[in-house]
Amino acid sequence: MSDLSTQLIHHPYTPPAGFATVQPAVHKASTILFPNVAALRSRDWKHKTGYTYGLHGTPTTFTLEERIATLEGGRFCTLVPSGLAAVVLVDMALLKAGDEVLIPDNAYGPNKAFAQAELASWGIGCQLYDAMNPADLAAKLNVKTRLVWLEAPGSITLEFPDLPALAAAVSAHNESSAQAHRLGTVTAIDNTWGAGLAFNAFALGADISVQALTKYPSGGADVLMGSVVTRREDLYHLMHFCHMRVGYGVSGNDAELVLRGLGSMALRYAAQDTAARQLAAWLLDQPQIETVLHPALPNSPGHAEWTRDCNGAACLFSAVFKPEFSPMQIDRFCDSLRLFRLGYSWAGPMSLCVPYDMPALRVAKPWPYQGGLVRFSVGLEAVADLQADIAQALESL
Ligand SMILES: *Cc1c(COP(=O)(O)O)cnc(C)c1O
Repeated sequence: MSDLSTQLIHHPYTPPAGFATVQPAVHKASTILFPNVAALRSRDWKHKTGYTYGLHGTPTTFTLEERIATLEGGRFCTLVPSGLAAVVLVDMALLKAGDEVLIPDNAYGPNKAFAQAELASWGIGCQLYDAMNPADLAAKLNVKTRLVWLEAPGSITLEFPDLPALAAAVSAHNESSAQAHRLGTVTAIDNTWGAGLAFNAFALGADISVQALTKYPSGGADVLMGSVVTRREDLYHLMHFCHMRVGYGVSGNDAELVLRGLGSMALRYAAQDTAARQLAAWLLDQPQIETVLHPALPNSPGHAEWTRDCNGAACLFSAVFKPEFSPMQIDRFCDSLRLFRLGYSWAGPMSLCVPYDMPALRVAKPWPYQGGLVRFSVGLEAVADLQADIAQALESL
């Protein structure tokens, strides 16, 4: 070992013993070294009994997986590079050509888009169902249905479904179709809104829960990551093996940012919940507004189910404007906001808003309102400032 270039690589450094810290260390690796050929040959890729290759996990990502599983009341967690990748992993792990997936009409748009483009081209069918009508789901379940997506509340429009009733429709279908398939029809929920805090997805009947860790667990608007959690070992193995085959690794630095965010997550969730409810209730009384959609508002669809099943709400509400305001005026309203900035995603420190063209986004049931819709995501600014911001933009109408 005479050459400096060799010494730089085979350095004798070991980290200090007795260095106890609050936050876990960031471990980063593609290569993980084996002590000898026997150890390399007997490596176990499939169970988290050791480390084999960076793509399969590091002490940092295993720690985050354990915490997310604990947060959600699940047993097993698989991390993926985004919330959308979590949805896609569940689809790819469970669905084969000839199968069918059922997705709520009000689900996160890219979930539907993946089914209608990639899954369709792989010979996998998709039906959209009305999540507010469990009978509609029951009627659409059939021998090909392998996977039913749930989402609570609906994306953008925030209707809170009767999750136990939807899960019961799938259970009844599984009992009547008498082991047509080894796994039965599986339910997976997009649990980004609840974040493991507002309700326990498994207690309400989900087999799999996915989250965009991009939102609350990170909280910083600076990380993309997703998680797939389950209590069922058979489903976990399917997710985990598919995860290895598709190469969905996450970076140690990103995992560290999420681990850092987790400590303040419950406080942020509660503060943003309180602020969003105050603003939603105030906005409902403004003369330009037809209605405000937020499950804690008694007029909002699924308020009773939300009251029964949840002990909190995320930072989102949507305002439907009176029909006399043109789409151009609503765009101007959004452009007039100074604190609510235009941008996708939510649950970060900065308040955001996006106008949506709702009629174009609904298939199973027509959208009931004429006026335009703006979705607000409330950040961590002072509520009085945010209210004043919306008030001055309403005046511009
Ligand atoms: C943001 C979001 C996702 C996707 O998360 P990304 O990390 O942005 O891919 C999925 N579902 C819901 C409900 C979301 O809000």
